[in-house]
Amino acid sequence: MSLEVCVLGSGSGGNSTVIRCRGVSEVLLLDAGFGPRATAKRLSATGVSLEQIRAICLTHLDSDHFNTNWVATVIKLSIRIHCHADAVSSLLHQVARQCGPKAEGFDRLITPFATATDFEPLPGLRLHPIHLHHDETGSHGFVISAGHDAARLGYATDLGQVPAQLIEKFAGVDLLMLESNYDPAMEENSDRPYYLKARIMGGSGHLSNDQAFAAVRAILDRTEKHHGPQNLPRHIVLLHRSRQCNCPILLRKLFQRDARIKPVLTLAEQSTPTAWLRLQSGPACSGAQLSLELHGGRISSVSTALTLESRDGSAKYGEGLLLCDHAHALRQEHHAPPDRQQRRRHGDDQ
Ligand SMILES: [Zn+2]
Repeated sequence: MSLEVCVLGSGSGGNSTVIRCRGVSEVLLLDAGFGPRATAKRLSATGVSLEQIRAICLTHLDSDHFNTNWVATVIKLSIRIHCHADAVSSLLHQVARQCGPKAEGFDRLITPFATATDFEPLPGLRLHPIHLHHDETGSHGFVISAGHDAARLGYATDLGQVPAQLIEKFAGVDLLMLESNYDPAMEENSDRPYYLKARIMGGSGHLSNDQAFAAVRAILDRTEKHHGPQNLPRHIVLLHRSRQCNCPILLRKLFQRDARIKPVLTLAEQSTPTAWLRLQSGPACSGAQLSLELHGGRISSVSTALTLESRDGSAKYGEGLLLCDHAHALRQEHHAPPDRQQRRRHGDDQ
């Protein structure tokens, strides 16, 4: 079964990622840091409605990961909330304080998970939680897969340091999603108060660009060693970029120093969803990948194209994704193979 993933937005202003198994209408939200109305608006570009959300899985309880405006919608739509067992009482307390009697019934929708114990928020979708250092209570990253031998994704945000087991567990994933929060010099020189800088950079806050880059390279090195270079990630998505203390140009420049990262890199944005990222099981296929970013024009994101061709050239399949006009429209195109005559005219057979 293949996985489809779309980051609805990422940063201190809210985090939420939608995940589904291809062909299944129900979806999982990983974090719900935007209220339901804002989430519905972002989802509209992806073809998913709020009613299709079957479960929400929380990395931790900070307000940019769980917005309590969700409570009424969660109860109305009977959406299951997966939350670490140690965080359940804090979640209930937070919700009771902010929603009062409107939170009636919310507790029955909570399904606790335990570190390192797999659980299935959707039929066939398996999550393996990994504990991460973040503030006093910590956060959780996940290895997510859709069945045995299926495509896998590694997701980790809000971590002050990279545990060795994260490198180990994320080796071989098809989609690698990791936060790259701040540039150390920009953080140091910002007008943020000392205690905030200390919290962010102190090992229990967020990852700097350099720490994230080192972690991604370590994951890729381990992947090459244990799974072979054909199993390097097909997408690498950088999450939770600080608007005040980071710079997308600097970030891209740093990560593109590694030729394995450059062609598969996506920077998640705070205000614009990514295109659907699709993961098929099996080794990566060779093909063409095109990244396009136009500034100031109508197209504001990335398009990717992949061409798969059988060994004897008898079958060809092209797939493209284009997210345009600030996510007002998401267009997916499936091209049937052009006939040989047409391909020859376009020089495709050369
Ligand atoms: Zn956060």
